[in-house]
Amino acid sequence: MGEIFDIAVIGAGVIGSAIARALSRYAGSFAVIERTHDVGMGASVRNSGVIHAGINCIPGTLRAEYCMEGRALLQDWCEELNVPYGICGKLVVARAEEEIPGLERLMRDGEANGVPDLRIISGEEAETIQPGVTCVAALHVPTSGIVSPYALTIAMAEDAAANGVRFFLGSAVSGIAPGADGFTIETTTGPIGARFLVNSAGIHAGRVAGFLDPEAPEIHPCVGEYLILDRQAGEAMSTSIYPAPAAANAGLGVHITPTTEGNILLGPSSEYVSDPETSCCTKVTTDRLLDEASVMWPGLPRHLVIGAYAGLRSKLTSPETGGFSDYVFRRTPEHPNAIHLLGIESPGLTAAPAIARHVVDDLLASDVGLRTKPAGEIRTRRWPDRFDELPEDEKKRLVAADPDHGDIVCRCEGVTRAEILHAIDNPLGVRTLSGIKFRTRASMGRCSGGYCLPRIVEILQEEFGWSPGDFQLRGPDSPAFVGRLLEEDHVCAHS
Ligand SMILES: Cc1cc2nc3c(=O)[nH]c(=O)nc-3n(C[C@H](O)[C@H](O)[C@H](O)COP(=O)(O)OP(=O)(O)OC[C@H]3O[C@@H](n4cnc5c(N)ncnc54)[C@H](O)[C@@H]3O)c2cc1C
Repeated sequence: MGEIFDIAVIGAGVIGSAIARALSRYAGSFAVIERTHDVGMGASVRNSGVIHAGINCIPGTLRAEYCMEGRALLQDWCEELNVPYGICGKLVVARAEEEIPGLERLMRDGEANGVPDLRIISGEEAETIQPGVTCVAALHVPTSGIVSPYALTIAMAEDAAANGVRFFLGSAVSGIAPGADGFTIETTTGPIGARFLVNSAGIHAGRVAGFLDPEAPEIHPCVGEYLILDRQAGEAMSTSIYPAPAAANAGLGVHITPTTEGNILLGPSSEYVSDPETSCCTKVTTDRLLDEASVMWPGLPRHLVIGAYAGLRSKLTSPETGGFSDYVFRRTPEHPNAIHLLGIESPGLTAAPAIARHVVDDLLASDVGLRTKPAGEIRTRRWPDRFDELPEDEKKRLVAADPDHGDIVCRCEGVTRAEILHAIDNPLGVRTLSGIKFRTRASMGRCSGGYCLPRIVEILQEEFGWSPGDFQLRGPDSPAFVGRLLEEDHVCAHS
């Protein structure tokens, strides 16, 4: 067997990365095992990025508890890690009188959960908050917010790695064997030993739990598709707009949400699927997203759509039942040193730091021997400021100190060569084109990489002397280049 760790976390989505960060404040040996070649590439980057206020969780549930605790902790963690977030509020809109009881129910649940300042307002007042919104009444939720989900997940994981947690990326767990002093975790890159394990494998957490626990509940994937609108559209949007709740919906309905970068998201759809690897978007669904969103905001600039993506909800409720069930933290008497986190769907992003805190509390109460690290041994790794957003005098100072700050590589998002180099130099060792994209936003703009991709390739060639076959989109199984069009130095990129 390979190395033996005190605790192994399976899955590096927002939940696994938050747990890793929380663990990195303790002395011990910790591993995170992730099947993809970067962190947060599952549901954790494919969601609405909303910091939920707590109106959508039934009072008394773990979802409600962790949402309320998580939203406060999340803001503290974002401050510590320099991760972009904002409290922009939310309007839940009733488009007809018969939808108003749905708003009243959300308000009652929210108040029971301790959400402050909730008000049902008229359609006219809603329009003063978000010009152009069309409704007969709305629930105003001023404490709802937004966060960059990929910045949060990557920042937490990089901070954990910088503080001693070992990440095994590209290692899919394929079996778990219990032993006298813990577990042997079989992975596609070899076995890893651990005394305790935490299963936060998202959509696959049921299957991973099944290696130890045949009674583990099944997880049903439910896809949510989104459209992304250009930053130009974001200028007209100051708050999120959600529809009044529909009965037994598997999601919260198609909403319109600003992002921390100034784009607008439309979505998500909600459709149970059988394939847990589903990630594509369909024209039928994205057309429907535009139609549904336009009912709430008729002025929606449809022509500014620049992209689409889909995320999978990990639902414990079946297609027949729909709706939401509570989070399950499963520990069996046979294997008390394994904690399985099941059904961590919305508001899992919001709840992540609270879930991490509770998992660590559980581990502290167990026989794992965690000891708090002295503060002097902790070095918080902060998410870098975006050059594009710095004050002019600071930009000038940086360019004078290092001309790489003045070399704009991505024109749409204003990303510099210095930012690309910083992204490559990450403590997780991620050097894929997708890794650079999520760390810098290069190629996330209107031209989708048409301008910056060749320049990023040049930088990687200069830094590492790579040949075309070395460039990976997401990992070794997705080569960025498949061959030469010309004999010279012109290469052909995968779309
Ligand atoms: C459409 C949609 C919208 C949402 N909107 C919001 C929102 O606005 N606000 C909010 O608070 N929450 C939202 N959520 C919920 C939130 O995104 C999730 O609760 C959260 O991302 C779950 O994180 P996770 O780490 O459990 O799962 P994931 O991010 O899926 O991470 C699980 C990880 O485990 C890895 N893994 C799986 N199997 C294995 C294996 N065998 N070996 C090793 N690794 C493995 C995966 O590769 C993955 O990286 C939304 C979710 C969806 C789908």
